[in-house]
Amino acid sequence: MLPGRMMDFPLTLSHLMERARTFYPRSEIVSRNPDKSLHRYTYADFYARTCRLANALTRLGVKAGDRVATLSWNHYRHLEVYYGVPCMGAVVHTLNLRLHPNDLGYIARHAEDSVVVVDRSLLPLFEKFKDAVPSIRHVIVVPDAGPAPEGTLDYEALLAAESPDFDFPQLDENSASMLCYTSGTTGNPKGVLYSHRSTVLHALACCMTDVTGMREADAVMPVVPMFHAAAWGLAFDAVLTGAKLVLPGPHLDPPSLLDLMAAEKVTLAGGVPTIWIGILALLDQAPNKWDLSSMRSMLIGGSAAPPSLIEGFQQRHGLEVVHAWGMTEMSPVGTMAKVKGPLRQAAHEAKSSARASQGFALPFVETRVASDDGTLLPWDGETMGELEVRGPWVASSYFSDEGADRYTKDGWFKTGDVVTIDSHGYVRICDRSKDVIKSGGEWISSVALENALMAHPAVLEAAVFAGKHPKWDERPLAAVALKEGQQVTKEELTAHLAGQFAKMWLPDDYVFVPQVPRTSTGKFLKTKLREDYGDHLLKNPKADAAT
Ligand code: ADP
Repeated sequence: MLPGRMMDFPLTLSHLMERARTFYPRSEIVSRNPDKSLHRYTYADFYARTCRLANALTRLGVKAGDRVATLSWNHYRHLEVYYGVPCMGAVVHTLNLRLHPNDLGYIARHAEDSVVVVDRSLLPLFEKFKDAVPSIRHVIVVPDAGPAPEGTLDYEALLAAESPDFDFPQLDENSASMLCYTSGTTGNPKGVLYSHRSTVLHALACCMTDVTGMREADAVMPVVPMFHAAAWGLAFDAVLTGAKLVLPGPHLDPPSLLDLMAAEKVTLAGGVPTIWIGILALLDQAPNKWDLSSMRSMLIGGSAAPPSLIEGFQQRHGLEVVHAWGMTEMSPVGTMAKVKGPLRQAAHEAKSSARASQGFALPFVETRVASDDGTLLPWDGETMGELEVRGPWVASSYFSDEGADRYTKDGWFKTGDVVTIDSHGYVRICDRSKDVIKSGGEWISSVALENALMAHPAVLEAAVFAGKHPKWDERPLAAVALKEGQQVTKEELTAHLAGQFAKMWLPDDYVFVPQVPRTSTGKFLKTKLREDYGDHLLKNPKADAAT
């Protein structure tokens, strides 16, 4: 081999910080406080305060590799911890504030967090699990809703006592930067330890024109929490590009989000489908109330975005939705549904189908589809199998070496998602392997049925899940939430689906619910539905359409 003669310059987050200070000192970071007032400052202020934080943590004895946890909403102080901790060589660990205290205790103990930075408003939650985490040495309270109580350290007092300069160390790009746990939708949460290098490469790829296309002129609003898969990297992408950041704090209801998007002229926002479902319903009710003319792209991911949602935004409000797929284990973005090449000229239907798919792989992410026995399957858009991936921002193992069974012998990560891939490379998720409905040997895609149900004008949300069945093992059941003031019968829903699916696929029964239960990250919680209604067909044989 003839070695190249280029510098071995480390890909670290401190470079992003330095860059923001040097080239974009006036870019704004706007945060909404719990009382709905806005806090504004610039990247120059952010840099100086992040240095103060790094000085304070050093004084508290935080060392390279130590885990500093956050229990926080999306706001500017959380962002300071996001950068200050990894840039000084320690690891920021984002705790998911929607989890049960027992789970939080398990995760923080597993991570061996030594410092916790917690919003004052979330302190009651922290109190419920702190005793389960003996490794915690310091509790730093962000005074978002009153002062820090005795026995804790006040975030602002700590920063005020420190210098706004900090000499960030030269780090190895492979050193750990952030620890995120999977939200445990289908099992115990597992830790994923990102590196500086993986985070920087992920940010560079995400900002490419045909991915998010983020740029300095954008105003970016991560609705997706900073504790959920690093807010999809949006906070890193923004600092890299110098874009304005708009952080929504704790008010995530549709009117509050729309108010902020309009007021701050947001151009790019990201959130899970349940957030956008609520926003679309409100826009449909009051189409002219909010001026969203600045918005150029709304990213949806985390669970399947129904095509009716994507089309609804596009056709009724002229808003572009971009569907993406990812996983905590992938930093998290893996694929993005941009319409490419010949499909741009294709008929509306083919374009919509590409837009509604989970998209094709980002550069440096490789995708393939395999059967249970590991045989690789064709990219024909029809053959279903498990999606396997590899790339520089895919976890090579979990934090404490669990989950070795998630890797193939040749080093690919098994996503647990059942997919097809078509000849253009577009991935379509049919299900998570644990949610797929196995009815008499046939696999039924809950996602396809949900998408079709959510296209019915009366339906707001629909989740399809497996009900136990004496003859077929499992049969599909649907939990349906209707739009305000709408009514529909079970027979009408079946008639709506009948033209699109084989009889075998049609749900045996429907349960009407005010809202589909959600996971801590806003996904439909199918384990709860299976728990509550799994025996429904055994108990109500009359409802059983399949016998
Ligand atoms: P958890 O596994 O606890 O839900 P993650 O947020 O990491 O935590 O979830 C990753 C999973 O979310 C993927 O494996 C996939 O099943 C699902 N997912 C993510 N994005 C999409 C999408 N656009 N469409 C369908 N499913 C998605």
